[in-house]
Amino acid sequence: MLTPALSNQGSYRGRFAPSPSGPLHFGSLVAALGSFLAAKSQQGKWLVRIEDIDTPRVVQGADSDILHTLEAYGLHWDETVVYQSQRHSIYQDVQNHLQSQGLVYACQCTRKEIKQRGGFYDNHCRALNLPFANNALRLRQNFPVDSFTDQIQGQVHIPRNIAWEDYIIKRRDGLYAYQLVVVLDDIDQHITHVVRGADLLEPTARQLGLFKQLKHTAPRYAHLPLVVTEPGLKLSKQNHAPAIDKQNPIPATLAALRFLGLLPPKDLNSADIEDILKWAIASFSLQKISKVAEKPLSDAY
Ligand SMILES: [Zn+2]
Repeated sequence: MLTPALSNQGSYRGRFAPSPSGPLHFGSLVAALGSFLAAKSQQGKWLVRIEDIDTPRVVQGADSDILHTLEAYGLHWDETVVYQSQRHSIYQDVQNHLQSQGLVYACQCTRKEIKQRGGFYDNHCRALNLPFANNALRLRQNFPVDSFTDQIQGQVHIPRNIAWEDYIIKRRDGLYAYQLVVVLDDIDQHITHVVRGADLLEPTARQLGLFKQLKHTAPRYAHLPLVVTEPGLKLSKQNHAPAIDKQNPIPATLAALRFLGLLPPKDLNSADIEDILKWAIASFSLQKISKVAEKPLSDAY
């Protein structure tokens, strides 16, 4: 018979979920490595999901480039890679389910109108019974979450207007919104732990509410400090972060490990990537990670 401790082994299921809008940069490497090490240090599974729901932002070939880069960095995933673009019928089923409960309504407010009314959506269309076709769809917020405990950030408080918003689950252009699909994917893939960048703290509150609405246990969340190029400026595809080097994964990996609070010994500089990751799995702890980046990227890497 398994002891309780052993039966828990392998039950951890984490994931890395890049959007294929460009190559991996140092910030996405930190998120990939952080989620990988968190899973592997708990003898867990690490899954990869390509978040290609926002089709206008998808760059042709970026998905395979991302997967090849992960392989070059020794970040080997478990189970088949999931693509959101192939899961439309799952999202549709849940939309129908929410709709049948009277939880979904159409909204035709433009960004400009919302801005003129004070910058926050004010339930303007809740009772208007607008047609669903060619309008955005909003979910009635019955489970607002205004604070939660994060494994790195501690107690997180969310502004009331964000916590209570009837947010959009399907856009006017017919595309499902990130808020909806990310929760459905995490449920479907039995994700137990989410490790990702701190730019997603506010979406996490909405996602926690949606797990409640759908009567599913939410994963535990750990939000990593953001990589900044200078104070306050996040490294991202939008500000043209350079791609990490597929041919030479070790310098970026060692820098990412230091960013995650680890101190790789000098002799690892000449080790191969698999040995570096073995050392990192054995050394990793969420407790070693600081809430915010201590220095900008230019000093760290
Ligand atoms: Zn509206």
